[in-house]
Amino acid sequence: MDHQPPYDLIVIGGGSGGIATANRAAQYGARTALIAEGPLGGTCVNVGCVPKKIFWNAAHLAEQMRMAEEYGFTPVAPDFHWEQLKARRDAYIHRLNGRYAQGLNGNDVTLLRGHARLHGAHQVEVDGQILQAAHILIATGGQPMWPDIPGAELGITSDGFFALKQKPRCVAIVGAGYIAVELAGVLHALGSDVSLVMRRHHFLNDFEPMLREHLMDAMLHQGINLLAQRQVRALEQREDGLCLHFQDGDCLGGLDTVIWAIGRQPNSSDLGLESVDIQQDAQGFIPVDTFQNTTSSGIYALGDVTRAPALTPVAIAAGRRLADRLFNQQADRHLDSSLVPTVIFSHPPIATVGMSETAAREQYGDESVKVYQTRFTPMLRAFSEEPEKTAMKLVTVGREEKIVGLHAIGDGVDEMLQGFAVALRMGACKRDFDDTIAIHPTSSEELVTLR
Ligand code: FAD
Ligand code: NDP
Repeated sequence: MDHQPPYDLIVIGGGSGGIATANRAAQYGARTALIAEGPLGGTCVNVGCVPKKIFWNAAHLAEQMRMAEEYGFTPVAPDFHWEQLKARRDAYIHRLNGRYAQGLNGNDVTLLRGHARLHGAHQVEVDGQILQAAHILIATGGQPMWPDIPGAELGITSDGFFALKQKPRCVAIVGAGYIAVELAGVLHALGSDVSLVMRRHHFLNDFEPMLREHLMDAMLHQGINLLAQRQVRALEQREDGLCLHFQDGDCLGGLDTVIWAIGRQPNSSDLGLESVDIQQDAQGFIPVDTFQNTTSSGIYALGDVTRAPALTPVAIAAGRRLADRLFNQQADRHLDSSLVPTVIFSHPPIATVGMSETAAREQYGDESVKVYQTRFTPMLRAFSEEPEKTAMKLVTVGREEKIVGLHAIGDGVDEMLQGFAVALRMGACKRDFDDTIAIHPTSSEELVTLR
């Protein structure tokens, strides 16, 4: 076995969190190696945010083309070429993979390819080599879960969705989270016949209820088939296509594609954690404290392999702060994940930061919570016969009406949230919003004119 000179930091995983940490550490002068098994950029770049947003953009354009007629344009019936978009998307991702490699190289990070395993304290094994480092970071991300039912393998997950060579004609998506609603919206807008199968009454059950109620109405109105309270029992291939069987005896047939979007699990099972005495939790996540420390000294974890919100900017922020702490003498530097803004790229999109009204009432008591909300037709939809509305809600607490939650759904809210998230982070109160001059005519002005 080859023994390499010791590194200051070895990062396992070349995704959002791993790459950000390695680059920041190396910029501080730390001798850094990064071990990557899959394509650089990890989930986000290859089978997550990036290809998803490209498809979302395509779906958004399709909607705009439909709306163009209301603005006096001659109606167009656009022909959408799935395979053409996929080829362009793949080429774009390939360029991003290259840029990540260049970035690591430019920062003098040693890039090693292969599956890494911990090999006792301060040692990592990859491809028969043992590497040594004072600090080791686990940033191995996660992967989609599959249901444990007969015929599950006849379906695909989000990874399979991104590999599809042609547009599904008739698709069922099973799940109730981000991926289920995002893929349902994209596929419907691009012309597939879409059913969304939920095991409970609603989807997005952990979010402010106003958001999911509004989105459910919008999806029903668009013609997406929402099947609530359906527990899937089996998937079967029949002559006329795939058939999804439910516990209640009912079934949904004639499908050419079934997508499982039932959550993701951490990549932690083949990492040699036992050699350093790190115990995973019941679902396989690696427990960490607020400084990303695992229970083993000198070994850290972040991103989707931990219980942090599974979002790219969270993994990146945790990684950069860890590098600041370890290699730039910022002893107390850590991620405060109390106000994480997030956008669900549904149709229409959802933007949300902070507490739901329910959570605020539970934490602060009914008498402390005051809510401001609105529902209106955005000017963009002025000529629609049944315009899709926009809805917004502010959740405030105390006499000073500190804003603890901001939730919006509708055209353009995806690009609205970032600035408002800064305001919440700075402790904005309702009065600060009232005192801000509105920008007219926009939808975002509604958030500073709520009464
Ligand atoms: P990953 O990006 O998953 O990277 C981990 C890397 O480690 C992988 O490349 C893996 O191959 C590698 N690896 C694993 N084990 C080993 C090993 N033993 N040795 C070497 N390498 C190993 N987030 C957003 O913020 N916005 C979005 O719009 C968004 N959309 C998404 C859409 C989809 C369909 C999905 C699935 C996710 C989306 N996410 C989004 C979530 C986001 O992609 C993840 O939170 C983020 O990628 C997590 O980064 P990470 O570094 O923890 O892990
Ligand atoms: P989520 O955890 O968001 O949602 C999965 C949901 O599926 C569960 O909440 C559950 O809902 C439902 N479910 C679980 N098991 C079953 C089952 N056996 N049958 C039917 N339904 C089931 O996972 P996703 O896979 O959608 O996404 C993973 C994570 O990736 C997200 O949480 C998010 O952090 C990240 N992501 C971020 C995006 C963004 O930023 N825009 C986009 C995509 C992903 P219930 O319990 O209510 O039934």
